[in-house]
Amino acid sequence: MSVAVLVPAAGRGERLGGSGPKALRLLRGEAVVVHALRALQSCADVAHLVVAAPPDATAEMERVLAASGLRPSWSVVAGAEHRQSSVAAALDALDPSADVVLVHDAARCLVPVEVVQRVVDAVRAGAEAVVPVVAVSDTVKQVEGDRVVATVDRSRLRAVQTPQGFRREVLDRAYAHAGEVATDDAGLAERVGATVRVVAGHPEAFKVTGPLDLLLAEAVLRAR
Ligand code: C5P
Repeated sequence: MSVAVLVPAAGRGERLGGSGPKALRLLRGEAVVVHALRALQSCADVAHLVVAAPPDATAEMERVLAASGLRPSWSVVAGAEHRQSSVAAALDALDPSADVVLVHDAARCLVPVEVVQRVVDAVRAGAEAVVPVVAVSDTVKQVEGDRVVATVDRSRLRAVQTPQGFRREVLDRAYAHAGEVATDDAGLAERVGATVRVVAGHPEAFKVTGPLDLLLAEAVLRAR
């Protein structure tokens, strides 16, 4: 089964501050997206990468990837206004021979290889869709305005990371029927009736969103 990864990297990074798209910001001298792609290529099963770049930065993305000497073959497509439409553009460009498809946020640039491998293995073992998860350590409350209306039992909750893995036909079906924006790809698969399995995620697969996350990512890289 041939494994390809779609990498949405077209976000503007407004919450991060600074200038330029988040995926092209440097982290210890290398673009955030390159860290993410190196993490993915550490999984020997990954054969192809499709990166969705900001529409006005596709040439720069191609330059950065060409200079980084990646092992898997790769291509760059123009992303779109929402993450979901960036993933759809990458899926449209994907070679039909890929039968296991992962979707991985460029912003989760330090994902450990064992997480990628667990997701690939679970799809190869027969799962329709797979998400890596971690326990929720904060208490979560439901609110209306300034009033708490419920306290959710956190022992049943999981925070969901990427890469999320899919059988090709499941992701194709999920995107063919994608209506309203979902917050993750597995959410679209759920809507078309797929069973989504969970595997263990990892704290280092966190998403670089704000300035504090950049500091944390630098600290993780230093510690490695
Ligand atoms: O905005 P957020 O942090 O949720 O984005 C998650 C991932 O989706 C990031 O890697 C970002 O570059 C990507 N994205 C995208 N196209 C958009 C918005 C976000 O590819 N329009």
